[in-house]
Amino acid sequence: MSYVAQGPGQNLHAFAFSHLRAEHPRMKQRPLVIWMTGISASGKSTIADALDIALQAQGRFTCIVDGDSVRGGLCRDLGFTDNDREENIRRVAEVARLMLEAGLIVIVALISPSAASRHYARSIIGNESFVEVHVDAPLETAEQRDPKGLYKKARAGLIKNFTGIDSRYDLPIFPEVHLNTQALSVEQSVEAILDWVARNDART
Ligand code: ADP
Repeated sequence: MSYVAQGPGQNLHAFAFSHLRAEHPRMKQRPLVIWMTGISASGKSTIADALDIALQAQGRFTCIVDGDSVRGGLCRDLGFTDNDREENIRRVAEVARLMLEAGLIVIVALISPSAASRHYARSIIGNESFVEVHVDAPLETAEQRDPKGLYKKARAGLIKNFTGIDSRYDLPIFPEVHLNTQALSVEQSVEAILDWVARNDART
């Protein structure tokens, strides 16, 4: 984890803080960022919530960063243009990195539609700690679920730049975990991610 945020015109030097270790000494877990990407209503928040409960039941220390919540606070000045979406992702990745350094298993639930910005998030967090989870559902299925009524509004022209309707979603090519939420129950999706976390713990 040698990444140092660079601001314009600043002289920043990375101090090799001793807390930046692979395994947190007291939490006894390998910190990770589980980055859940997918179109609206694909199931990110639902699976993130169930995963959080399951990880905590294993005695792990976790934190959820949910796209809708950050948009109401940390990123409330941002809209949905390409530039603003990218800045939204950059801020979330920076926050996730800080939590990772605090030793947590961080669960991010964010549409993160562009492959380039997911790649950027991975570079901020570090490849060894970044688990890209594609929460996948066909657009028709997501539109039928529509728990927040957003597709309906987007189809009626009330929301602009809506992912899947008039804004693109780049399918992840090599995600660490792919969840077909049409075929898998929420519990099965959680199991697939828990397997990955266990394998990561066993890594030497
Ligand atoms: P997102 O966070 O991706 O926008 P949500 O989790 O808010 O999506 O909404 C997904 C909706 O789909 C929820 O109402 C959830 O109950 C429903 N759903 C149905 N089947 C599944 C499944 N197999 N996995 C995840 N969500 C599912």
